[in-house]
Amino acid sequence: MPLFTSQKPFLIAGPCSAESEEQMLEIAHAFQHMPVHMIRAGIWKPRSRPGHFEGIGEKGLAWLKQVKQIAQKPICIEVANKEQVALALKYDIDAVWLGARTTVNPILVQEIADALQGTSLAVLVKNPVNPDIELWSGAIERLQQKNIQDIAAIHRGFSTYDTHSKYRNKPLWAIPIELKRRYPKLPIYCDVSHITGKRDLIAPIAQRAMDLDFDGLMIETHPNPDVALSDALQQITPHALATIIAQLVLKKKSVESDIEIENIRQTLDSMDAEIIEIIGKRMELVKELGKIKAQNNIAIFQQERWREIVESRTMWGESNQLNAEFILRLFELIHDKSIKTQIEVLNQQSNHS
Ligand code: PEP
Ligand code: MN
Repeated sequence: MPLFTSQKPFLIAGPCSAESEEQMLEIAHAFQHMPVHMIRAGIWKPRSRPGHFEGIGEKGLAWLKQVKQIAQKPICIEVANKEQVALALKYDIDAVWLGARTTVNPILVQEIADALQGTSLAVLVKNPVNPDIELWSGAIERLQQKNIQDIAAIHRGFSTYDTHSKYRNKPLWAIPIELKRRYPKLPIYCDVSHITGKRDLIAPIAQRAMDLDFDGLMIETHPNPDVALSDALQQITPHALATIIAQLVLKKKSVESDIEIENIRQTLDSMDAEIIEIIGKRMELVKELGKIKAQNNIAIFQQERWREIVESRTMWGESNQLNAEFILRLFELIHDKSIKTQIEVLNQQSNHS
C-alpha cells in the first residue's frame, strides 16, 4: 500500500527538529485525532552556518518509534547520506525526505538512491535550494531508476539574495507546476513553512497551494514554537495547525459541464494562438532587420535601443495593468531571441560572402 495516498490535502506535520522525548510525545498525542497523515521530525539538521542546533541524532529515533505507536501514523525524517538511511531502517521509519541541500548534489542523491534500493521506505524529494528544475527532476529519476515505488515531491521554495522578499524562500510557482507537467502521477506537496519563514503567511500560502492543485502540505508544528531550537519563527502549535486546515477552501477540478470555464478557456486558447502568431511575425521582421544590419556592418545589440524598449514597454504595460517586472521578464525573453536570430542571419551572410 503506498503511503502517499490520494487523500487531499495529504498533511505532513511535526517539528522542524526532534528536541526532547517530552516534545515528541506531546506531538504524538496532539496528532492522534487530527487529519495529519504523516509525522515529520528532523534528526540531523543541515544548518547553513555552524554553531546552531545540529539535531539530536540517533537517540531521537527511539522517541519516534514511540510516536508512531501512540499516534498510529507513519513517520518521516530527513536523510543526507547512506548511514542515515541505515539508521532510518533500523528504527522502523516509514519515509525519508531529501532536503534542499541534498537535492542539489547528484553524488549524494545517488548514494542515497543506492542505499534505498530494495527497501520499503517511501521517499520525498524537496526541490534544490536553487531554482533548477533539472536537479529536482534528476533526483526523482535517480530514485525511479532504483525502482523506488512510493515517491513524492516537496516544493519548499528557492533561496534568494533579495533581502526585501516577504518569503524566506521564494515560491516561484512555475517550477513546481512544470514538475507536475513532467510527472503527472507524482504527488506534490507544498512545504509552506520553509517558503514563508513566518507564521502569519502560512494560512494564505497553504490556500494558494490548494488553489494551484497541490496534493498536500508540509507544515512545521511544535508544542511550544517560541522556544523551538530551530526555525522558531515559522513553527505553529498543533491547535493553530488544526485551525488553518479547517479553514482551507478546497477547490474541485473543473469538469466539462463547467461551461463557463470551458468558454473562457477557449477564448484564452485563441488569444494565446494570436500572441504566438504575432511573436512569429515579429521574428520574421527581426530577420529583415538582421540582414540590413549585416549588410551595413551595424552592431546587433545597441544599449540605447534596449533602454528605449524597456522604458516604452513598461509604460504600455502600466496602462494595461501589467507590472514592470512582468514586462521586463517578457521582453528580456523576446529581445534575447531577437539577438540570437540576428546573429544567425549575420553568420549565414558571412558564410555566403
Ligand atoms: C527541514 O525540513 O527542516 C529542512 C531543513 O528543510 P529544507 O531542506 O527544505 O531546507
Ligand atoms: Mn525547518
